[in-house]
Amino acid sequence: MQRLYNSIPTALGVIGRDGRYLTVNTMYAAIYGTFPDAMVGRVVGELGSDAEPQWQGDLMRFDAGIGMIEREVSRAGGYYIQAVQPMQNAAGQVVGLTLALIDITARRQMEQALEKVSRHWQFRASHDHLTGLPNRRHIDQALLAESRRCARAGASLSVLMIDVDLFKKYNDHVGHQRGDACLRAIAAQLQAMVRRQGDVVGRYGGEEFIAILPNTAIGGAHGVAQDMLRAIQGLDIKHPASPYGCVTLSIGVASMNAAPMYSPGRVDELLGNADRALYAAKAAGRNTACGCPLPLAQSPRLWPDMAFAPCALPCGQ
Ligand code: GH3
Ligand code: MG
Ligand code: MG
Repeated sequence: MQRLYNSIPTALGVIGRDGRYLTVNTMYAAIYGTFPDAMVGRVVGELGSDAEPQWQGDLMRFDAGIGMIEREVSRAGGYYIQAVQPMQNAAGQVVGLTLALIDITARRQMEQALEKVSRHWQFRASHDHLTGLPNRRHIDQALLAESRRCARAGASLSVLMIDVDLFKKYNDHVGHQRGDACLRAIAAQLQAMVRRQGDVVGRYGGEEFIAILPNTAIGGAHGVAQDMLRAIQGLDIKHPASPYGCVTLSIGVASMNAAPMYSPGRVDELLGNADRALYAAKAAGRNTACGCPLPLAQSPRLWPDMAFAPCALPCGQ
């Protein structure tokens, strides 16, 4: 019987009401790197802080008439399914706890490894591999979610459509590899500049980036755009074919004000306005942030709650 007790592939033990081990089998002692004889008579806490920390609470629950307890626990670096039952005397009083621990460490480690792989692939699927920024897919989802949230909260939402100026010529002059390094530097700088909760900067495609600025009206969005223009000019990445001598951006700014209800068409309209504003910024000489160029008389008829900055705002020259 004793041999069976010690060879069974389950850790078994009994704890008395005084918190001392009355008996443990070889598997149980092995969890703590010791032998049964060295454990019997010792108080549970002596073996380490994770040695049955719940034993007193379990006794109280059994005293109150609760049946078996089953839980997942970690002990001495391993993971176990633990079953605890009351040990009763002839009068039905709880005189101790019987414990059984089944080792699930290997399964748990496998699950953790799979979770890590899954997180890795989720990140890869939603982020751009060159810059590490959220990709177009992620941005589309974030934009939809934010437009819904802002509509519910009665808040405004702005987007910045950001395009690197004369980037084809930059590549032609310095080579594609330095072009890639330039995009990475711009991405890092833009990301460092949007720190408010819910703000997202992503790579929209090629040399185009986008910033989603929830709870931000047109004035605030223009402020962020101006800061970005200055910051990228401040990187002073030499551009031999630029009239500014360095790499610059053009930014189209568009906002939608608080709306009483969400409508999917508003997101397309917002992006369309930001796109048109970007073209206006290019036409205004680049290195410029511009609001939606639609005539004010035309756009409010489409979306009365859309707000537009009226003109190009040259910056950083
Ligand atoms: P504009 O000021 O009007 O925006 O001119 P542009 O030259 O920036 O615009 P255009 O659309 O003519 O060219 C964009 C260039 O961006 C061409 C393309 O090779 C380059 N590009 C797009 N993606 C990448 C990339 O991942 N790495 C590099 N190095 N270049 C890229
Ligand atoms: Mg472009
Ligand atoms: Mg460009």
